[in-house]
Order: sequence, then structure tokens, then C-alpha cells
Amino acid sequence: MNVPLSSYRVGFGFDVHPFEENRPLFLGGIRIPSPIGLAGHSDADVLLHALADAIFGAIGSTDIGQHFPNTDPRWRGCASSVFVCEAIEEVRQKGYVVVNVDCTILAEQPKISPHTTAIRQNLASLLGISLEATSLKATTTERLGFIGRGEGIAAMVVALVAKV
Ligand code: MG
Repeated sequence: MNVPLSSYRVGFGFDVHPFEENRPLFLGGIRIPSPIGLAGHSDADVLLHALADAIFGAIGSTDIGQHFPNTDPRWRGCASSVFVCEAIEEVRQKGYVVVNVDCTILAEQPKISPHTTAIRQNLASLLGISLEATSLKATTTERLGFIGRGEGIAAMVVALVAKV
């Protein structure tokens, strides 16, 4: 597919969730074995939230909080893939496709690398793109700040969309 450069749009998403006891940990739609999960109204999948915001941002839409208010009981405990699917639907309606996504998880724990492939595969499947069009990096913050103190996890995502 030959897409003119002028039709590319990029979006950025950022999200943070604090740790909470007795919650499962979901990152990128994958359940990660962990003694502690993330607090949130939905399943608190910080990576999928940042991903949805990156996609909404790329097409100039409003953010995930506007689309899915955390005061709305419909989204309580819901799988965050619902948010990404809505973002993808909006992309499609505006005549775009997602080209690639580049994701970073910031966490002191747990170790993300054993789950990188599973997460990327799930992102590729959710977005309808190839594995090669996804990237997932993880970093600590060298024990600095709230991430470094192990109080929560943050995620940053850049998404590129193209008009088709
Ligand atoms: Mg969130």
C-alpha cells in the first residue's frame, strides 16, 4: 500500500496506575503473574490505556477519560481492550489505519521481559497489525520517584496512523 506522507498522523499516550493489593495485574491485555495488581475503575491495564490515548490522539479525538468516564458503572472492571477497540473503530470511521505502535512500560517490578512477546502478539492482534509493527520496551526509573519506590506503573505509547 502506497500512502502519501501527508496523510500520516502521530499520537502519544501516557498513563499511570498505583499498585493495589488483591488485584490481578494486566499489561497489554495479558495477565502477568504478580503478588500485586493495579488499582483502577476498569481492569487498570495501564498499557492499553496509554495505547488507546495514543490512537485517539493521532486522529485528534478526545481522550480515554472523555470516552469512558470512570464514573460510568459500565466500565467498572471491564477489559481495557474495549477502549482500544473503540479507538480502532474511530480510526476506521475516519478513514485511517494504524501503521505501528511503540510502547514503553516504566516499572520497578515485576520484570516485563518474560512477557514482551505475549504482550506484543496481543497488541498486534488487537490492532490488526503485524508483530513487527509493534514494539514494547520496559525500563525502571533507577529507584527514583513514585515508580522507583514501587508505588505503581506508568506506560507511554506512540502510535502512527495513515489515511487509506
Ligand atoms: Mg488509566
